[in-house]
Order: sequence, then C-alpha cells, then structure tokens
Amino acid sequence: MQTKLLINGKLVAGEGRVEEVLNPATGKVLAKVPEASRAQINAAVNAADAAFDGWSRTPPKDRATLLLKLADRIESDGAAFAKIESQNCGKPYPAALNDEIPAIADVFRFFAGACRSMPGVVAGEYLAGFTSMIRRDPIGVVASIAPWNYPLMMAAWKLGPALAAGNCCVLKPSEQTPLTALKLAELLAEIFPPGVVNVVCGRGASVGAPLTKHPKVRMISLTGDVATGGKILGQSADGIKRTHLELGGKAPVIVFDDADIESVVSGVRTFGYYNAGQDCTAACRLYAGAKVYDRLVADLSSAVGTIKTGLQTADGVEMGPLISAGQRDRVAGFVARAKKQKHIEITTGGRAGSGGGFFYEPTVVAGARQSDEIVRREVFGPVVSVTRFKDTEQAIAWANDSDYGLASSVWTQDVGKALQVASRLQYGCTWINTHFMLVSEMPHGGLKRSGYGKDLSVYALEDYTVVRHVMAKL
Ligand code: NAD
Repeated sequence: MQTKLLINGKLVAGEGRVEEVLNPATGKVLAKVPEASRAQINAAVNAADAAFDGWSRTPPKDRATLLLKLADRIESDGAAFAKIESQNCGKPYPAALNDEIPAIADVFRFFAGACRSMPGVVAGEYLAGFTSMIRRDPIGVVASIAPWNYPLMMAAWKLGPALAAGNCCVLKPSEQTPLTALKLAELLAEIFPPGVVNVVCGRGASVGAPLTKHPKVRMISLTGDVATGGKILGQSADGIKRTHLELGGKAPVIVFDDADIESVVSGVRTFGYYNAGQDCTAACRLYAGAKVYDRLVADLSSAVGTIKTGLQTADGVEMGPLISAGQRDRVAGFVARAKKQKHIEITTGGRAGSGGGFFYEPTVVAGARQSDEIVRREVFGPVVSVTRFKDTEQAIAWANDSDYGLASSVWTQDVGKALQVASRLQYGCTWINTHFMLVSEMPHGGLKRSGYGKDLSVYALEDYTVVRHVMAKL
C-alpha cells in the first residue's frame, strides 16, 4: 500500500504521528500512514507557490493534456483504485468500480475541455478611446480538503477545476480515508510538473489547520461538516482568503398523492441508502401526502428490509458499514432518541450489526414530525424519516424549514406542479421524479449552512478563478 506523501514532485514518508487506517467492514487495520510534519506542510505549500508562475501561464490546452492523461490512467487502473476505496470506506466494490471510477475520470475530462473555452463578457470599447477586457485568472495556491465519504471523487471534484484553471494545489484527504489519494499521488508525480499538485495527510487539527493558515495559501476548498466549515472560515479570516465550502445536507423528498409510488419506493431504496446514507444529498427526509402516506411507509419498509448489507466483495452486496465506530454510534443515538417519541415507529432496521465491522441496519423512521431531531439534523447514515403533510403549502414550508440547502426532490406526475414547487425550494438542486443524479456539466452545491461553493460544471471553474478587468487607452 502506498503511504507516502507527495511534496514537490517527490513521494516522501510523512514525518508526523502515525495514523491507523481501518477497514470499516472488519474494524481491522488496513495501513499505517504517518501524517505530514509542520515542515512538510510548509514544504508542500512552498512547492505549490513556486510552481504557480509556470503552471498558471501554461496554455489551457497543455494543462488539459495532462488532465486527460490523468483521467486515462485512473481509468486503466480503475480496479486497483476501486479495491482500495472499497476496503478503506467499506463500500461495495462494484459500486466503487462501476459508479465512482467512471464518474471520477469524467470529471477530469470535463474540466480539461471546459478550461479551454471559458465564457465571459466580451471585450469592447465601453468608454470611447479605451478597450476593456475581462480575464479569468487562477487564484494561486489552493488547500483542497476532502471528507471520507467519497475520498477519490471529492479529490477529483477539487483538483479538476482548480488545476484546469491554473491553480496549484495541496490536497489533504480525510485522515480516515487517505489511501486512494495516496495512490493518486503516484500518478500525479508522474504526470504533473513538481509542485503543481501536492498531497499531505493528517488530522484536521494537526495538518488541516496549519495548512489553511499558511500565508501562501490563497484559497481553501472544503467538503465536510458544517462545524468544520465554520472553523475554516475562522482560520481564513486573518488572510481574507477565498473559501469554497460544501457542507452537510438534509434532503427533503416531497411525495405528492399522485406520485408513482413504485418509483418513489425504488428511488428512495437506492438514493436514501447508497453509500450507507453517508451522502450529503441522501434522500433522507420524506414528506408524504396524506393519501399515499400509509402505502409509502409500508412499501418502503418492506423494500428497505431487503437491502443486502455485507462485506465489500460479498455476492450481491448493496450496502456496507458506516465509516467508523463513532459514526455508527452517532447514527444509533439518533434512532434511539427518535424511538423514545410515542408518535414514532421504527418500521424496519434500527439496530447496529454484530461483529467487528461498523454496520447499522437500513432503517425507516415513520410518523416523524417536523420538530423532531430526526427530521432536523443530518444523520449521515442509512436512516430515512417519513412525515405526513396535509397540503402543498405545508410541504414546501416544511421542506424549506431547515438549516440546510443542498439537495431536494419532488415526486408527482403533474409536471407543472413539480416545476412550481421546484421554483420555491431553497436548495442548490431539485430533482423531479428522481434524486441523487449528478453530471459533470451541472453544478453541485448548496445554500444556507450547506455552504456556497459549486463543484462540477463551469461554475466550479468560475469559483477557482478571479475575474479581472484590463483596460487599455487606445
Ligand atoms: P469533517 O468536516 O469532519 O472533515 C472534512 C475534512 O476536514 C477532513 O479532511 C478533516 O481532516 C478536515 N478538517 C477537520 N477540521 C479541520 C480544520 N480545523 N482545519 C482544516 N481541515 C480540517 O467531515 P467528514 O466527517 O469527513 O465528512 C462528512 C461531512 O461532509 C458531512 O457533514 C457531509 O454532509 C459533508 N459532505 C458534504 C458534501 C457536499 O458536497 N456538500 C459532500 C460530501 C460530504
């Protein structure tokens, strides 16, 4: 297993505390990764800063060539990446291989193309005798800080637009899931000029914080918890650094009485429990019309009861464990507290698995009320709540009555109603009669406490660039 950091084009062993990286399906140690020392963090940032002049002036087509090469290499080595990702995250191997690897390669390919034709206001003589033009220039050194739920994909979402736009990066994966980023480091070392992209590992407090506070870091991109987003804002305040925050979510799923219940059930069975629900867009907060509520709860509970959980390579496995014992206990705590409410019924699941892994049963919490903790807080586990609503206004009000604003969905056969409701939802994304579908061309990002950075699409490229005006006297 590759456990070395990437600093200035060289793979080097970390000189800090050794972190044990676990296989969450068994609880056993997969690898030991020494984190970056303070001197190594400084070296990585200095290398990125030194590389910036050359990389930012490299023509987009040449930057694109390297990103395309990276995409090809990830794809050709897809089985090995997927194996490590599934071992480190606990997710089913086929999901890592067939869902994630192609999407990751596509992200690099999309940004390789997109950076070659960035849109903007046209140059012209907006004042007689002067020509004005808009430039979109890279920002400098970006600290790219990733979470544990989709480690390689989040690295791709961060590195793709940042590098395409001409920035240099220091990537810090989650201390719990650094292994695919470290394997990626081998490819990055081969493909990119030294310093353009660096990878350092370690915990938030010992590596993430000093990295973000480094004076040469000009932008911080974080996907993570809301509380971490708040810390990053604090850490970046002194340097007035640009921040790109992708934080939590609690996606409402509004099911109207005329919805196709079979497709709602099969959709939520997939989109509520994919990656064991450890997904910021998970379809986890259902609002059901009064007429369909009973059928939805019954059918969903039976369908969710058939989700096959198990080891990464077990035959037909659909769901793995949670990332850690702590995360499993956190999820169990939410369900235990919900269970104490008289109006709530756990219609399927509701128990932790036995053995050394961090499994938790796919769970449906029926009868939840808008004020309940299970409806309001992000569980980040395989738990879906169902709440009955009386009319459209109440459904919209409850859906919007949330600290979060990342993703949402509306299920109805009336397209007009769906579009009207979508226009009033305060979420970065609203799906109609589906959920969770992402494409490289469309933005992913939220509002409210879900943060404000956009990943994917040309909007991410905009986020990783600064708009400049150049004016010439004729
Ligand atoms: P986390 O916030 O605990 O950690 C995220 C990263 O931040 C890790 O690499 C961690 O080491 C680092 N970090 C922690 N403290 C830091 C500090 N003070 N300075 C710098 N870096 C620091 O999040 P997590 O538990 O890894 O991931 C789960 C969370 O991520 C959930 O809340 C989930 O909703 C969110 N998430 C959001 C999106 C999105 O697109 N909005 C996508 C995936 C996950």
